[in-house]
Amino acid sequence: MKSFLLFIFLFTSLFAFDYKLKPIKLNENSYYFYGKEEYFSKQNGGNIANCAFIITKNSVILIDTGSSYEYGIQVKKQIEKITNKPIKYIINTHHHPDHFLGNSAFSKGDIYATDFTKNEIEQNGDLYIVNLNNLIQNAMKDTKNKPPNIVLKSHELNLDGYKLKVLYFDGHTQSDLVLYDKNSKILYTSDLIFNKRTLATPHANIPKWINSLEELKKINYKILVPGHGVIDKTKLAINENIAYLKYLDSTLKNSAKEGLDIFEILEKPIPKEFKDFSMFKEEFERSVINLFPKYEKLHQK
Ligand SMILES: [Zn+2]
Repeated sequence: MKSFLLFIFLFTSLFAFDYKLKPIKLNENSYYFYGKEEYFSKQNGGNIANCAFIITKNSVILIDTGSSYEYGIQVKKQIEKITNKPIKYIINTHHHPDHFLGNSAFSKGDIYATDFTKNEIEQNGDLYIVNLNNLIQNAMKDTKNKPPNIVLKSHELNLDGYKLKVLYFDGHTQSDLVLYDKNSKILYTSDLIFNKRTLATPHANIPKWINSLEELKKINYKILVPGHGVIDKTKLAINENIAYLKYLDSTLKNSAKEGLDIFEILEKPIPKEFKDFSMFKEEFERSVINLFPKYEKLHQK
């Protein structure tokens, strides 16, 4: 039995994890890869976030790089099937590991991020790798931390003649980058939007997040590419995310006032409007455990 298990182990570690990535077309020159609405696991190899790319006249712009070196390699292969133009520009929207740990697959090309995101990746990238080694195991093979090399400050990027509007927000983390492509009216929101996928809040500031979403509503986009979940053309996603954040905030506030404990909060039925959100139970529980002590402290003051 032992030698059989050893054989299985050696066999699986010989082959790269297959992400089965398929780029989904947004318009003539823009695509995205849809990440599964799941938590990190051995089975999904950490393919749980969206990333996107734009093919311009002479190059390719890639927005986020996924959870691992191997994911980045497979993204690169998929892009090379569509175009022979080089991936010259990579943008990391924020410092969560499902969005930047594929950086090391791109030996060429500049990696852009805000100052905050760049620092976080420099300081915590290796820690995220250790953590994901446990969660997704084999698929993390060869993943190294490769922090961004260019700090984004301007409100417009001109990449080989292709212009992108750069918008600086916060709320999901302390620095959430949004890109707006005026040419195609495609809005890349990073993790400010989870479309029909319950929002993840480990570094969230809920009032700031709501403010950012109110600002996003002013943009006249045609297609919204969220950090998680499918694309949105209905314009409902932003309001649904605001509604969820308000629900989470008021539930935690009222529960602190009523002196409830975490178990009593988790017993509450799921409101009708969020019944079609994936991962409600898991993410709501994670948010309550993480955020409720702060609400209790605030209430005691
Ligand atoms: Zn995130």
